[in-house]
Amino acid sequence: MRTAFTPEQLADPHMKGAEQALRKCVHCGFCTATCPTYLLLGDERDSPRGRIMLMQHMLESDAPPSSDTVRHIDRCLSCLGCRTTCPSGVDYAALVDTARVHIAKTYRRPFGERLFRTFVLRVLMTPALFSVLTSVGRIFGPIARQLPGRIGKMAVKIPLRQKLRDVHRKLPETNADMRRIALLEGCAQKVLAPGIDLAARRMLARTGAHAEPLEGAGCCGALALHMGDEALAKKSAKRVIEAFEAEDAKAPLAAALSTATGCAAFLKDYDRLFAGDAEWETRAKNFSARMRDFTELAEPLAQPPNWIAFLSLNVAYHPPCSLQHAQRLQGRGEALLSSAGFRLTTFADPHLCCGSAGSYSLLQPEISEGLRAKKLASIRASGASVIASGNAGCLTQLSGGGNLPAIHIAELLDWAGGGPRPVAMGEE
Ligand code: SF4
Ligand code: SF4
Repeated sequence: MRTAFTPEQLADPHMKGAEQALRKCVHCGFCTATCPTYLLLGDERDSPRGRIMLMQHMLESDAPPSSDTVRHIDRCLSCLGCRTTCPSGVDYAALVDTARVHIAKTYRRPFGERLFRTFVLRVLMTPALFSVLTSVGRIFGPIARQLPGRIGKMAVKIPLRQKLRDVHRKLPETNADMRRIALLEGCAQKVLAPGIDLAARRMLARTGAHAEPLEGAGCCGALALHMGDEALAKKSAKRVIEAFEAEDAKAPLAAALSTATGCAAFLKDYDRLFAGDAEWETRAKNFSARMRDFTELAEPLAQPPNWIAFLSLNVAYHPPCSLQHAQRLQGRGEALLSSAGFRLTTFADPHLCCGSAGSYSLLQPEISEGLRAKKLASIRASGASVIASGNAGCLTQLSGGGNLPAIHIAELLDWAGGGPRPVAMGEE
């Protein structure tokens, strides 16, 4: 496709990346078949091809977009399902990230919306604040759910936090000969489901890896970039990189790890975030090269000692979009679960997003709920008794679906390797 950017615009490496993506698009529309919002809403402007047209016009004009354009770009999940069916290799992530930053810089949202978006971002990125609000939400949630408008919808989304027993808090034994791994705890997951990282640490220790929380790292910044706040995303990313470099200087680290696939995908993309930055691009590249998803570090168990305990389970493994589309790690989760003795069910459209997508479930509650309902219907039809996934956001989104427990893959693998029964399974 032809583009009409000025040389001044193309001097910005992010705009250049977006332009290259636009030039590759031939408008064939193959991507519409794998776009969850298009399949749900049936509007071309909510398809990748339609959004590409809107984004091209917006970026080329270098002017504030119309509210209509913003609405359709806001409705994009950034799930990257479109990337899997695009024959031209359009880098949709580069395009939509640039578009979101442009919107944040040039478009003035209505006051209430600005306030709400700032609130959501600050709360999710600040574990202490998020922890207080989820506790308050648990007490006042039933009342708040009855309220009209956004507060009522948001109250429905207040997630339950894991209640860990001592057995879930147990740390693995480690020694100096083990591979050192920097564990990035992130922000929201650490509050909602602290048992995930503990399970991953026990699981990895059995295969000779010592995963230790990386002090001072904090939030990776993915939420900020997905809401167009590039400055905050870069500030968060610099803190992560500095923390990693400082720990690596003390004693070499084998890798950095996140057990949230959404964070892992963004952490691997830091070099793109800092493209053209003389000081940070190389540091970001070095860091991203050592970043690993949990499914890349976990190893199959030779002899799962607990297999009798879960013979009767049918596990529906929902591969997060950030794992299968963004990181392009297809099949790893399924292989790990199968090797540990879990029986997997197959369900329709495993490539489609569940509607969680970071802050999306709060910002676009109707579409998010529509996608959740579709996902749960196909999982239930498969005869599953348990849902497994690799991202706390997906698990929160899918929990409570027909009383199916939603469990992180690290907790299932830890259980299979002799660890405690996952919290969501309840007590025996
Ligand atoms: S990222 Fe997902 S929601 Fe957005 S256009 Fe692509 S497939 Fe559709
Ligand atoms: S499949 Fe690729 S080339 Fe075709 S319309 Fe979609 S993004 Fe453009």
